[in-house]
Amino acid sequence: MYINVRLLKGFSGILTYKIPADAPPIAIGSIVTVPIRTQIKPAVVLAIHHSAPENQSFVIKELLTLETIPYADYYQPFLTKLSSYYQIDSVHFTKRITQFISQKELPSDATAEPSASCTTEIITLTDEQQCVVTFMNPQIEKQQYTPVLLHGVTGSGKTEVYKKLILQAHQQGKTTILLLPEVTLAVNFELLLKSQLINISIFGFHSATSVKDKKKLWVSLCAGTPVLIIGVHLPIFLPISNLGLIIIDEEHEIGFQEKKHPKINSKEAALIRAQLANIPIILGSATPSISSLYNVKMKGWHFFQLKKRFSGSFPTIITVPLNDKKKRKNFWISKKLELAIIDRLSKSEQTIIFLNRRGYSFFVQCKQCSFIFECTHCSVSLTLHEHNMLHCHYCGQTTTQPTTCPSCKTDQSFLKKGIGTQQVVEILQKLFPTARIGRADMDSTVNKKQWQETIRSMHDGSLDILVGTQTITKGYHFPKVTLVGILWADLNLHFPIFNAAETTLQQLIQVAGRAGRNSAESLVVIQTMLDHPIFAYVDEINYLAFYHSHIEQRITIGYPPYNRLVEIELKHNDEQLLDKEADLLASLLNDQSKNSLVLGPAKPPIHKIKNSYSRKIYLKDSEMTPLITLFSAIDKKKFKSSLFFTPNPLNL
Ligand code: ADP
Ligand code: ZN
Repeated sequence: MYINVRLLKGFSGILTYKIPADAPPIAIGSIVTVPIRTQIKPAVVLAIHHSAPENQSFVIKELLTLETIPYADYYQPFLTKLSSYYQIDSVHFTKRITQFISQKELPSDATAEPSASCTTEIITLTDEQQCVVTFMNPQIEKQQYTPVLLHGVTGSGKTEVYKKLILQAHQQGKTTILLLPEVTLAVNFELLLKSQLINISIFGFHSATSVKDKKKLWVSLCAGTPVLIIGVHLPIFLPISNLGLIIIDEEHEIGFQEKKHPKINSKEAALIRAQLANIPIILGSATPSISSLYNVKMKGWHFFQLKKRFSGSFPTIITVPLNDKKKRKNFWISKKLELAIIDRLSKSEQTIIFLNRRGYSFFVQCKQCSFIFECTHCSVSLTLHEHNMLHCHYCGQTTTQPTTCPSCKTDQSFLKKGIGTQQVVEILQKLFPTARIGRADMDSTVNKKQWQETIRSMHDGSLDILVGTQTITKGYHFPKVTLVGILWADLNLHFPIFNAAETTLQQLIQVAGRAGRNSAESLVVIQTMLDHPIFAYVDEINYLAFYHSHIEQRITIGYPPYNRLVEIELKHNDEQLLDKEADLLASLLNDQSKNSLVLGPAKPPIHKIKNSYSRKIYLKDSEMTPLITLFSAIDKKKFKSSLFFTPNPLNL
């Protein structure tokens, strides 16, 4: 017998090896080690043949060892289904989860050490919480595909529900996967649950997990031990013989979709997996996505609500127009917000100031000739950071801002437009000189230590004000925060993306939900340039009313979740060639389409990144299958541009 394999790392062609007579059974998807030149490398089995390939001029070597991989009968069909859905080779998934096998460093022992500091307090679930657990338990036991949407307001105890479910799965000898939309959140959950669920082996499996810990998890999976696996994208691709439950927290977040092609969405992959594995899946959020709520109605997903906040109470919410003419010390801080901050400082309570922008200001423009500093590799303006540095947020290029305009040579005539977190810190420090102010955005969270330090300072009260971007909107529980100021709430509402209102509202509710976690009185000040109907729904008790007001509009315009959407991106360094090929692809798709709508090609707002140009074509239909069929029928060899297929591009 012979096998075709592909190496997990390095050479990407197909290689052939002989199976030794005494080898244990080998299946497609098995991991083997093979000799190549003078080295030994792991590889994945793509095909098995009874006879040797014809016209083979050289000697075929034998494979060396077979790695055990945990077995589940639905696992290969699951990878096949994913590879068809994303129009990529199924080896992609195997490579992603097994790369650590070829990395050095051996596991020292096979069990996860329980954390030393345990803070388990006995919690009795409320009726609302118990209701979810009582419903889910038999579903785990019966092994039934049961999608459940859990809408729980911020601080309503969703995590307590997850903990109970994980325990129950564990008692039945089953493994749970818990997915969060960001690595920092996954790390936090890992630490929290390790201290609270002390009898369960808990493993992170994400970019911050060490090779050693990944190997430990692999040993546990091979032994079939029930464990809890926490991550963002990777855990959903793991082979697991006893998977019994999947939990998706913050299910509305775009973070489940990978940022680089192929843009796999782990929430979507989780739903496919739960269906094939016949297991329950629970999706939780304080602001469920419109599409999940629509699935409750259309696909019979089960729906539960937690309406009460545990401690503290909901904040009072006020909206303040920024462009009124009232005198104030700084344009970005309204009188109401200023007074509220002074009040919090006097009472030693904490404030969060939220701005959905990092950096110092958006862009720098010459007052004389309107010249704007742009990245030389990307079609975006550069963002001003501290120390007069201009950054490209897409390719990372940094340059020092010159003092004269490169275009008209006028000296010192620059206008800084917009506002960023660093500037907010400066403004606040001037207005409140004694306040201790911290900052949390993408720039500051890249430095993990600094980020942990900021979180700790917020917890122990050594910070008065925390200025941040979306990083601070999710999951954090700071008991002393009684004021949240949203500097420019309509900032992202005017983007030409049809779900801008939904994502903006979700973000506002999440950040507003940081206020009053432990106090009876708290305030959210929403500052806006232009008023917008969604501000009426920031009080999270009204969230479902937003769904009802919005879904009709989606149905009328035929956007998701009513219809399914696919994005095809074409990329090439030669813009002329790209345009030609984009037109060709659109016309081929149009010719072959039965009922699907082909939109574009369009030049996206950011159409050049790292010198590579981009065009996009969208496909729309009531079902996904015809869209996959349509794209898969295209002869890709006709194109010099790279083609990327993304079903459901906005996590809808
Ligand atoms: P969410 O995940 O919905 O934002 P959490 O699960 O973090 O909310 O719960 C918020 C707070 O309420 C936590 O401090 C948690 O310990 C507490 N809590 C949750 N459920 C209960 C309960 N049944 N009894 C007592 N405290 C609870
Ligand atoms: Zn750039």
